Amino acid sequence: MSNSTATPYVSAAMLYANTDFTKLTWFELQWVGFYLWIDNPSVATGLMSFLLHELVYFGRCIPFLIMDEIPYFHKWKLQPDKAPTRQEKWECTKHVLFSHFTIEGPAIWLFHPTAEMVGLTTWQVPLPSWSTVLPQVFLFMVFEDMFHYCAHRFLHWGPMYKNVHKIHHKYSAPFGLAAEYAHPAEVFILGLGTIAGPFLYCAITGELHIFSMYVWIFCRLLQAIDSHSGYDFPWSLRHFVPFWSGAEHHDFHHMAFVNNFSTSFRWCDYLLGTDDKYREYRAKIDAAKKTGMTRSQLAEYEKKIAEEAEKEGARAEKEVEEYTFSGKPKAVAAQ
Ligand SMILES: [Zn+2]
Ligand SMILES: [Zn+2]
Repeated sequence: MSNSTATPYVSAAMLYANTDFTKLTWFELQWVGFYLWIDNPSVATGLMSFLLHELVYFGRCIPFLIMDEIPYFHKWKLQPDKAPTRQEKWECTKHVLFSHFTIEGPAIWLFHPTAEMVGLTTWQVPLPSWSTVLPQVFLFMVFEDMFHYCAHRFLHWGPMYKNVHKIHHKYSAPFGLAAEYAHPAEVFILGLGTIAGPFLYCAITGELHIFSMYVWIFCRLLQAIDSHSGYDFPWSLRHFVPFWSGAEHHDFHHMAFVNNFSTSFRWCDYLLGTDDKYREYRAKIDAAKKTGMTRSQLAEYEKKIAEEAEKEGARAEKEVEEYTFSGKPKAVAAQ
């Protein structure tokens, strides 16, 4: 392809021929060193992206797996009676690994040529400063949250739910590893929300370094694993940033099936009224806390209303599964 914008193969040493190494920071020198070592920008970017994803994903899951084994931490479990077994966790890990190597791996491999096509800089140094990176990451986070909200609601539409999203809802009490436990089509659809923001930003401004994207993907992975962790700690971010979703928000989505479709922030659900049942549930618990119930009475009450919400969710799930492409329940559509 003579008019392709992708960089043809050149040795990494040639790419850095005009770089003044004395002006680079230690981290930038490691960055350059990696590209020089692999000696093929496309392979280097693919490898770095894949390793970053694996290390952050499983690295962030490990502390939660350890906490699951230490009773001290169980007081912060959102659904303490529904702890996943080791066998369930292992099954989930195998599914996630299979998906990483067969779907996300090859997709990440195509990342470098796609990134170059939209004008992203990859091997280039110096890297952008934090004052450039952080506002970009916040922007990508807002974009992804809105994208995810819309896509997630689409995934709850009968045919999409039945054939695609139902896999992710296997665990009504999620755990960190289950963050990417999903149908390949869902991984692709929701993954678009993560990469479309940076690509659009780059297409519009003509300037974005892949380092910004890595910081964003790092944050996005932490957010996804945290929101599926099943733990709500006193130090969880949502206690300090009231519009942050966190595990407490997304756990309700898995438990009650309805409400809370967003990822990072609570505002989409609040503004579009898809958190009414969740807020009702929270209000009941808050009211019960004010009645002077003992700890065990409160735990019993919470368990009771959680079971009610779950029962109602199971009914809603069945109704969604019965919907056909025409949008009507099968029984009605057949008439
Ligand atoms: Zn869902
Ligand atoms: Zn989920």
